[in-house]
Amino acid sequence: MIELQQITKEYHMGAQTVHALRGVTMTVEQGEFIAIMGPSGSGKSTLMNMIGCLDQPTGGTYRLNGADVSQMSDDDLARVRNQRIGFVFQMYNLLARTPAVRQVELPLMYGGLRRRERRRRAEEALLSVGLADRMDHRPDELSGGQQQRVAIARALATEPSIILADEPTGNLDTASGEEILNIFDDLNAGGITIIFVTHDSQVSRRARRTVSLRDGLIEGDAVGAVGIE
Ligand code: ADP
Ligand code: MG
Repeated sequence: MIELQQITKEYHMGAQTVHALRGVTMTVEQGEFIAIMGPSGSGKSTLMNMIGCLDQPTGGTYRLNGADVSQMSDDDLARVRNQRIGFVFQMYNLLARTPAVRQVELPLMYGGLRRRERRRRAEEALLSVGLADRMDHRPDELSGGQQQRVAIARALATEPSIILADEPTGNLDTASGEEILNIFDDLNAGGITIIFVTHDSQVSRRARRTVSLRDGLIEGDAVGAVGIE
């Protein structure tokens, strides 16, 4: 489903060139559950941005469900991001002063759905992450773990086939992080591909495959967990 071939990414900062990815080749099948590990600056977020079509590689080819991403128009890319991929971030990225159900409805605004159907889907997504009794709560009325669950519900609203999560448990205590990983487990059991970044080897053990990055290259790709501290 996801096929990366010799992907490179360079950032130019004045006269400096940063080689964030130096030739990453990997394939991900539908239904996989993958942890991406590696030290700070190793290219984890850059790789997630490539996979999520948030940014284009400098070199190499990326095929998503057989289609060459570099050949897609901006409209195509926006549609892929909105319909096929759900994003979850370390800092939740919720709107301040906005009730949970409204946050989850937002990605549905582009789909031409009627108001009542948007509301129904948002409520269903919040129910699925255990927030049925928090629909009208704003972020400042929710714990970190609950805010991240709203973010997951928002990612799920458009029924994506892939969830990309960049350090989703990085700001959470262990128990709240466990809840997030349990939700990912359930979603993966339902067939959704999950790729998440962590630098906690304890957290990576929850995945079925661990890809280790170092200096913009894959240095390990193994079934099960790999211990990197
Ligand atoms: P990680 O998520 O593993 O910490 P990143 O993918 O964020 O690593 O960054 C990889 C390298 O690319 C780092 O050296 C970082 O400073 C650099 N980098 C990332 N994003 C940018 C950017 N927008 N502009 C310039 N350099 C960047
Ligand atoms: Mg990062």
